[in-house]
Amino acid sequence: MMMQQQREAIVRYGCKMLTSQLTTGSGGNLSICDRAAGRVAISPSGIEYSDLQARDVVITDFDGQFVEGRCKPSSELGFHLALYRKRPDVQAVLHTHSVYATTMACLGWEIPAVHYLVGFSGHKVPLAPYATFGTAELARNVAEGIGACNAVLLANHGLVAVGADLGRAFNTAEEIELVARIYYQARSVGNPVILPEEEMNRVLERFATYGQPAREDDDV
Ligand code: 13P
Ligand code: ZN
Repeated sequence: MMMQQQREAIVRYGCKMLTSQLTTGSGGNLSICDRAAGRVAISPSGIEYSDLQARDVVITDFDGQFVEGRCKPSSELGFHLALYRKRPDVQAVLHTHSVYATTMACLGWEIPAVHYLVGFSGHKVPLAPYATFGTAELARNVAEGIGACNAVLLANHGLVAVGADLGRAFNTAEEIELVARIYYQARSVGNPVILPEEEMNRVLERFATYGQPAREDDDV
């Protein structure tokens, strides 16, 4: 099978989405691209992550043409491909219906810099206008709405996070869910203080060198 390592990463992070309570059942979807080979590996549509196997992952080209697999690809293949086309820095896309981020998306709110961890996305988490799931209109809205950020809320739907690999896209989705929860709680009892732009610039600079340097055996 093609892209075996990427297929296994999609199964692993799909299960992690469930255990980390970022989604339920078969909600959300995830993909990894190999730009040199012109291939995208994406989760299949409507299969619960707890039942997902590496051979269920679907391989397409960058136009969405089927290359290999035994299942139908995610209904959101369109916005995964639109993000890869729009953002050459992105090699992985992860979509969730995590509860607090989706609550913000249902209110039609962006998430501002209420906590420095919003830096996982950028200066904020922007909001893409509503369109029916699985449509070309949603794909356009997501690709335009994300701008230069690493996450975008989908009105009345959920969250999309992107990254240089699936691990980073997952971490962004997880941290943004935490920030969304904090924002929800802070707004419930008062008026949260929002960090100024200069401070978020400092945070983003520090993020660039935070943690351990990348190793050769890093995850896909
Ligand atoms: P798929 O199971 O087709 O990926 O759809 C889930 C979803 O979240 C649609 O937005
Ligand atoms: Zn969805």
